[in-house]
Amino acid sequence: MVKLESVHGGHNNVAVGVRKGNYKEEVLADALAKRVAELTGARYIKQDSGDVNQNLAYFVREMDKKRGANLSIHFNAFNNSANGTESYSYDGDDVGEKLSINMSKKVSDVLGTFNRGNKNAPLYVIDRSIDVTTLLEVCFLDNDSDMEKFMAKREEVAHAIASCYENYKGNNTTEKPKEKSPVVNEPYKPRQEVRAFWFPKGHKKLAELKKYCNDNKIYFTESFVANQVRVNMKWFSQNSPSKMKLIEYLEKNNINYDMKLEFYENV
Ligand SMILES: [Zn+2]
Repeated sequence: MVKLESVHGGHNNVAVGVRKGNYKEEVLADALAKRVAELTGARYIKQDSGDVNQNLAYFVREMDKKRGANLSIHFNAFNNSANGTESYSYDGDDVGEKLSINMSKKVSDVLGTFNRGNKNAPLYVIDRSIDVTTLLEVCFLDNDSDMEKFMAKREEVAHAIASCYENYKGNNTTEKPKEKSPVVNEPYKPRQEVRAFWFPKGHKKLAELKKYCNDNKIYFTESFVANQVRVNMKWFSQNSPSKMKLIEYLEKNNINYDMKLEFYENV
């Protein structure tokens, strides 16, 4: 077992997470992170108020301040019917993989959700942090049945997560959860992804666009179909100045693009 050094709930109120009805990922994840910190004595990393790129970089900076295992708590979303619990580890990291397998199982056992198990994916906080980082997707926030289970068992879930680490203080802690009802009723804000496509692999315009993103601190992922690459730049608010500037750049360079309202979980 490893010692949990830091824990945080993904996203913040600018770089918002997934939403449905009254459920807000960043609020639920933050409350759970606080509780896991209490149950382990791990450092709780408070969410900042930066945009998505600043936010991810901030978490990594905070995690790297001390050596030790980190945990990033999230909720998933897809199409309202996908369900279950999963956890991510760095590809090739045996310690992280074991931890992640264990966590997904323990959390799904306590919730009664489907155990989707350990996965590897290019996730910023896992890839860029120095030490073992686990990213837990507690359950699907857009799935009513998953969320009914979670809302009934928040305290048990916190214990299940904490018990994956050697500094878990155990069941006999007398501290009571401090966050009683972290569900806030506010209208949700849509966020947009700008997708530029399709570039042949190795195309000059592709390299230039990636440089543009890096220079302007725009977070992006790439999707591949055969030899073609699409660049997915995220997340922007409706009237984001950096989105306007990006679109100007795309049009000036005759690059095809579209915009997508995005609720799908993508950290
Ligand atoms: Zn998330």
